[in-house]
Amino acid sequence: MTEPTQTVPARTRVAPSPTGDPHVGTAYQALFDVAWARKTGGRFVLRIEDTDRARTVEGSEQLIYSDLAWLGLAPDEGPQNPGECGPYRQSERLPLYRQYAEQLIEQGHAYYCWCSPERLAQLRADQAASKTSQTGYDRCCLGLTRDERAKLPGFSPDPVVRMLVPDDVDLEFTDAIRGQVHTPRPDDQVILKADGFPTYHLAVVVDDHLMGITAAVRGEEWISSTPKHLLLYKWLGWTPPAIAHMPLLRNTDKSKISKRKNPAARLEWFREAGYLPEALLNFLELLAYPPVHPDTEVQSFDEFVACFDWAKVNTTGPIFDLAKLNWLNGAYLRQLSDDELAHRIVTYWEQTGEPGAADPRARAVVAQAAPIIRERLTTLADAAPMIGFLLTPDAALGMDDDALATLPPNADQVLDAAQEVLAGLDDFRADAIQAGLRTALVDGLGLKPKVAFGPVRVALTGRRVSPPLFESAEILGRASCLARLGALRARLSA
Ligand code: GLU
Repeated sequence: MTEPTQTVPARTRVAPSPTGDPHVGTAYQALFDVAWARKTGGRFVLRIEDTDRARTVEGSEQLIYSDLAWLGLAPDEGPQNPGECGPYRQSERLPLYRQYAEQLIEQGHAYYCWCSPERLAQLRADQAASKTSQTGYDRCCLGLTRDERAKLPGFSPDPVVRMLVPDDVDLEFTDAIRGQVHTPRPDDQVILKADGFPTYHLAVVVDDHLMGITAAVRGEEWISSTPKHLLLYKWLGWTPPAIAHMPLLRNTDKSKISKRKNPAARLEWFREAGYLPEALLNFLELLAYPPVHPDTEVQSFDEFVACFDWAKVNTTGPIFDLAKLNWLNGAYLRQLSDDELAHRIVTYWEQTGEPGAADPRARAVVAQAAPIIRERLTTLADAAPMIGFLLTPDAALGMDDDALATLPPNADQVLDAAQEVLAGLDDFRADAIQAGLRTALVDGLGLKPKVAFGPVRVALTGRRVSPPLFESAEILGRASCLARLGALRARLSA
């Protein structure tokens, strides 16, 4: 096995199976692959492992592509931008796998097995019942011809091909992250299925070799498979790549992140929920990996790449803590320029089908409101409810009950005075609005600022808590402000 070294341009790959929405773990692994490829001046490859035809889901490959691109982790080579090592979908490489399976049979390293699924199930059940230490395939077919085997029970006409794992199989290997690893003895693994498709084990070895992969990085669930892969490399006369097993991502309760139980296991969820790709990337960089800077966890991908080192990966299951992601997302939102923030909000609305996306007036309001809501946003999804009052027609503005409940007994007086001030202002900008209201309500009526401005806020926004009041009033404009103050005033005297 080769050790990863910085002097050789690496070829890394991520090899997801297109079985539904991409898993967040695919992005996590791709992140480390891309970092290593960039650091060494190499290339990052996407290979689609679609040999399990029953589980392949239409459209999944497209999502893998678009999600990786969204995160800035687009492959340098893959099915949609092939390099010289294609095809990049395993279903298009079947003759290759068969050729190597046959070579292994000829060399005596693999054999046909005609055992029916029923026989294998019975064998497993018997082994479990007898509590024998002897588990795995019993080599019933080893050394038999088809005709000889056909005379025995549990025969199936379409054979699989199995590896003949020798007694002295090496059960130790060096992992680029974990160092020396010891695994249990493997079974006579099926490498070619009855339908002519390879299993993962044969395909991964053939493909990693033929695609010139120098570092195979994958999830820790594959550790026990590695001795089988190393046997295949040895038999085929190939040098294995460096092999690294990343820790599995875990929920805060330490359970494994699964798409069935945790919405955040789906990469699409982060786009839907309004996270910025750069924040998610930064978050993933910090999972099982130390921050680049001693004093902050906010770091760019380039900084991560510059000091990337496999040895720094921590193997204890990293905790997927969304509170941390929320914090990071807020930090990234606050770094965006006003224009960029408005653009991200509108793009998010386009993706999620928010009606405002197609309305030029709403887009203009977003541009004006971006600076006043930035501090309050955790995700882009927060923007729509936060500025809804700016987009609602005056007559349709609803009033929250808890907002109405805060109105003091003299609210009518406050609203009258506010109307008068706003109607008379020459300059309808936030600071002039604030100065005018302060003079009339705080100085004129002798109210405390909180009491003075509360009814104005409720009238203009319908809510108890809102983005900054005077800036909101400026965006609404004089006519809307007067209409809204008048509407609440009328409601109070009704
Ligand atoms: N298709 C495998 C998976 O999704 C790939 C494992 C590997 O990268 O070797 O886990």
